[in-house]
Amino acid sequence: MLTRFAPSPTGELHLGHAYSALLAHDAARRAGGIFRLRIDDIDGARSREEYVEAGLRDLAWLGIDWDGAPLRQSAQLGDYAAALDDLRARGLVYPCFCTRADIAASVAAPHGPAGAVYPGTCRMLGAHARELRLADEPHCWRLDMAHAAAVAGDLAWEEEGQGMRRADPCAHGDIVLARKDAPASYHLANTLDDATMGVTHVVRGADLVASTDVHRLLQALFGLPTPVYRHHGLIIGPDGKRLAKRDAAASLASLRDGGADGIALAADILAARLPTGYSLQMP
Ligand code: GLU
Repeated sequence: MLTRFAPSPTGELHLGHAYSALLAHDAARRAGGIFRLRIDDIDGARSREEYVEAGLRDLAWLGIDWDGAPLRQSAQLGDYAAALDDLRARGLVYPCFCTRADIAASVAAPHGPAGAVYPGTCRMLGAHARELRLADEPHCWRLDMAHAAAVAGDLAWEEEGQGMRRADPCAHGDIVLARKDAPASYHLANTLDDATMGVTHVVRGADLVASTDVHRLLQALFGLPTPVYRHHGLIIGPDGKRLAKRDAAASLASLRDGGADGIALAADILAARLPTGYSLQMP
């Protein structure tokens, strides 16, 4: 068994991150397996080195030990580019020149599991117009979802303890695989890296269950193995909402500064005994 925890270094880690990291770490250690870290730092504008270091310090404080050096997404850019080239050669992606405002203004934009679904405007461009615009207009690369889903056929994944779940990538529409401002989207980088790291069990929050539709499709397109998934419950704060990076009171650093013992806190979190005001919302 190989599990991983993959924080984005865009803020401090909070109780929700601790729960996810502890579940993944615990699953690997119980099975005599491997637990690895990945630093999801492809978003160059928002990622900060100080959050990488702070995150490692927080995890160590909780008694979490990891195997090998953390994998950095910023070191994997060649892999992402090669994968995109492969899809381009197979006619499965197209450049999209639309701005957010263009998409918001489109009356045709339906909604999917992760918000507005791209209405497909740039999929319809002719080859000549596409070539001309590629030369000097900013663009992202989108997956031609209907085409990709037809190539991949029916897809499912194993949700641990719950049997097989059918993946429905088409509900997401033509997702972005490479952004205007970043060489890969979360979906592309995450899918490739989980395979590169040899992840056998993905343990992550239930907020990402819909993303698994897309990850399963990308696995099929690239011929990658499919891990078992466990989408765990989310920690809810005193305001009744899911924890976010702005919830300073739930940050591990502030709990430590307030005198909490990391090892004791880790044991409590794993047993779903949370500090007053916090609760676990089951998926
Ligand atoms: N960096 C992603 C996040 O923090 C990881 C998601 C995942 O575990 O797949 O949401």
